[in-house]
Amino acid sequence: MIPQHDPKITPPARCGNDNAASLAWPSAMSAERLACDAPGMARAAELLQAGALVAFPTETVYGLGADAGDGRAVAAIFAAKDRPSFNPLIVHLPDLDAVARYAVLEGDAQRLAQAFWPGPMTLVLPLRAGAAISPLVTAGLSTLAVRVPGGRVARDLLARVGRPVAAPSANPSGRVSATHAGHVLDHLGDRIAAVLDDGPCAVGLESTILAPGADGTRLLRPGGLPAEAVEACLGAELLPPQVTARPDAPGQLASHYAPRCRVRLGAARADPGEMLLGFGAVDCDLNLSLSGDLAEAAACLFGHLHELDRRGAEAIAVSPVPEAGLGRAINDRLRRAAAPRG
Ligand code: AMP
Ligand code: MG
Repeated sequence: MIPQHDPKITPPARCGNDNAASLAWPSAMSAERLACDAPGMARAAELLQAGALVAFPTETVYGLGADAGDGRAVAAIFAAKDRPSFNPLIVHLPDLDAVARYAVLEGDAQRLAQAFWPGPMTLVLPLRAGAAISPLVTAGLSTLAVRVPGGRVARDLLARVGRPVAAPSANPSGRVSATHAGHVLDHLGDRIAAVLDDGPCAVGLESTILAPGADGTRLLRPGGLPAEAVEACLGAELLPPQVTARPDAPGQLASHYAPRCRVRLGAARADPGEMLLGFGAVDCDLNLSLSGDLAEAAACLFGHLHELDRRGAEAIAVSPVPEAGLGRAINDRLRRAAAPRG
């Protein structure tokens, strides 16, 4: 186990400038900080099986895990995040066979699963009758959002736990997602049992959420799997989300992913009091990607928002990011970070 108050928390692996490489995430709290070695993995699995909350790394962002069949454990996720109970959770499973035990996986859903799992894609599927999933997970819906995450640690953990694990992003509801164990400890460290620390997340954006249906597949939330790749696999265009009174995905809430300070988009330069979050060859406080690489920008996005907030920016101005591939998901997160707060 890593000592709890170690200030040398792993900085981002690759980010847009030298400033970013020296980022550190100071933390002081009570959650166990577990290394991803055999004893750490065993401890994390044991805690989850006992109904505790354990944050763990996936290739997208850190998830806040609980046994999806244990209503008390799932309720603790909502309490820890201060999350509205109408907002259902994604269940994480180790492979397609496990998914088929809890949800109906056929047609387009099956094709997508075979093409993109394990990976940054969530499918909203009909819940299998009698599946041992707490109704808190689905918020009472007849559908279940499921994902087979990529990354050795997440899959090893799920195999060890042997139960479906509900895991929203490991951050207070509505705030910037956690892409380092230090973010989790800073914001939830006094509310959870443990975090498995595997350094920064490779993708850095949440999963793409898709809802296959009779009339086609809907894109409920853009994310780490580009919509273009999904459309190429299906040979059809994705449908937009249906507008309902109740949001189907947090990506549909106007204000989400928000740092404490204001956010201004499409900025050529910083105004007085602002810090500039750059993209491409611009003079800025932190750069998402000096070379204009969208995968690098996605991996850095949440970490840089956390860091500019920590530096006490009055407002964050953000350079334009192209609206293609991962840029669509990056801009989606930025628009919600910049939206008026409720
Ligand atoms: P996050 O909270 O960032 O992990 O995002 C997970 C999101 O998946 C939830 O907030 C939901 O909005 C969405 N989701 C989960 N279950 C369902 C479902 N059955 N139908 C539609 N969307 C869902
Ligand atoms: Mg989230």
